Order: sequence, then structure tokens, then C-alpha cells
Amino acid sequence: MREAMAIARLGDDVYGEDPTVNELEALGASRVGKEAGLFVASGTMGNLTCILSLTSRGDEAIVGLDSHCYRSEAGGMATLGGVVPKPLATDKFGKMDPEMVEQAVNSDDVHYAQSRLIVLENTYAARGGMPVDIAYMREIRSIADRHELLIHLDGARLFNAAISLGVEASELTQYVDTVSFCLSKGLCAPVGSLVCGSSEFITTARRTRKVLGGGMRQAGVIAAAGIVALNEMVERLAQDHVNAKFLALELDKISGILIDTEMVKSNIIFFQLDPEVPFSADQVADELKRAFGIAIDVTGERSFRVVTHYWVGQHEMEKLVYGLASVLMSRHHRRRRS
Ligand SMILES: *Cc1c(COP(=O)(O)O)cnc(C)c1O
Repeated sequence: MREAMAIARLGDDVYGEDPTVNELEALGASRVGKEAGLFVASGTMGNLTCILSLTSRGDEAIVGLDSHCYRSEAGGMATLGGVVPKPLATDKFGKMDPEMVEQAVNSDDVHYAQSRLIVLENTYAARGGMPVDIAYMREIRSIADRHELLIHLDGARLFNAAISLGVEASELTQYVDTVSFCLSKGLCAPVGSLVCGSSEFITTARRTRKVLGGGMRQAGVIAAAGIVALNEMVERLAQDHVNAKFLALELDKISGILIDTEMVKSNIIFFQLDPEVPFSADQVADELKRAFGIAIDVTGERSFRVVTHYWVGQHEMEKLVYGLASVLMSRHHRRRRS
């Protein structure tokens, strides 16, 4: 990636003249079966660019209650787009109940905001990166069609979903109008996401991106890494998934840890401390950092999240398992329990 960045041909992308950005956008669009693509700075900017391009102020968007675009993007659709989110609960697998989705569509009545958009997320981050199956995507599409709604897919981790389900990414995206996906994260580019959709939509999205301050000039420097990401880093995501499963099964063997290994379908692992453990998650994380130099993500009073990726291999996983087992079995722990 560093080499590709160093030798990238550049131009001014605000004028559409950066050949490397243009190449990346065309490559990304073809991967997801859409007419055109647009390079943006982040996944958040990608979702926001799409949502703002597809709606008018006062429109309503049906979203998952714990979806990234509702919960983890600083309320951007409301703050900057005047879009009213209508959050619906999701099940264990990150799916909204299709009947609830249908009921959530407002009738044409002046009292109501105008239903315009459904936002899906695949994989579903809050469910441990759970891939959402094609049948569900198709079902939501048919609801959207019945009510003339649009669908945006937050596919930040779309390729993890495709690999996990054993399908092409374009099979998942055929049911949505627009999609955004990250080139960073598992695909390892340092910066950037792509937004894809029809050519007409991308023309609008290009203007929205400019409004958001996301028009970049010699952006080929970073787009070059994105091309490597799409060409060389997608297939190897399968290894991250195998590693995550291995790690989950190893964590499951540690006394004091609770984990649902069945929920590990991509590269995100959530796990908890058994109620018997006399430490908080923060204390465990601090000790893991102090004694073993390992940083892990604390997601609640007694819960954690870890993610496998290109830089996490057998050695790193074994180190984590050993470290956690040691921290949980420490003398301090035994003394407090007896
Ligand atoms: C990471 C992520 C985003 C946002 O991406 P950023 O580049 O961090 O802004 C959006 N949606 C999902 C599901 C994500 O996992």
C-alpha cells in the first residue's frame, strides 16, 4: 500500500481529474454491481452523504435501534440533514422485524413525517459483526417497493458479510439503492470509504460530499491504498474469520469468561465476565495492559470486544488467551473469592 501510494498518478479530484481516485471509484462500483462510486473520507461520511442525498429535510428514515448510523454517528442525519430517524429494535441477528418495518411506514397524512428511507447494516456491528442473509435483504426490498421507499446499506463491513455468507458482495447489494463500505478496517487501507449507486445518485452525492467539506484534491495518494485493499485484501478476510472463531473457542475455555461462540460469524468477538469474577471489565483491561501490553476494548461494566484483523495472528491470539487466563486466575482474585 505504501508503495502504491508513493507512485500513484494524481490530479485534482474536485474536478474529477485524479486518475487514481477515478480508478478506485470504478473498481468499487463494479464490485458491488452499481453504476458509479464516490470516494469519501470515512464510513460516517459515506452514510451521511447517502442519507442526505436520498432525503429532504423532515423526511423519515427507518433505522435499527442499535445501528451504527443511528447510535454511533453523532446524530448526523438529524443534525445536518433534518432527517427524522425512526429506530426499530433488532433481534439477536441484527434484523428488524419485517412486519414492524412495514408498520413503521407512515401513511400519507399531514401529521406525519414523510417516510422515505430504510437504512440496513451488513454486517451488523452491534451483533458481533453478524452477516445478515440475502433472504432478509430481499424481504426488506419488497417492503420498500410496496411503499416506494429507498434503501441505503451501511456496508462498512460488507466484504466481511459476503465472505462469511459465501456470496458475492453484489448479491447483497442488488437489493439496495445505495451502499457505503469501508476501505479501512479489515481491508487495511489507512483512510477512506466508497459510496456506490446509480450514476444519477452519484452526481447528487458528489455535491453533498462537497457540502460536507469532503471534496479532496490530490486524493489519489490515499485512493491508491484503497485499490490495493479491494484487489488484495478482500479474500483474506476469511482468515480473520477463522481466527476469530479459534479465539472465541479458546476464550470459552477460560474459567470466568462467558461467550456465545455461535455468534462469532465474522471477525468481531464480544464476551463477558462471569458474575463470580470479582473484577470489573476496566480492572481486567488495565491489568492486561500493565502486565502483558495488550489493549482490549471495554464495552460495558463486565463486557469486552475484540476484533481479529491482518495484524492479529496465532501469536497475538495465544498471547491474549494466556494473558486473560492469567489475570483472571491471579492470586488477588483467588484471595478475594475465598
Ligand atoms: C466503522 C463503521 C462505520 C463508520 O466508519 P468510520 O470510518 O469509522 O466513520 C459505519 N458503520 C459501521 C457498521 C461501522 O462498523
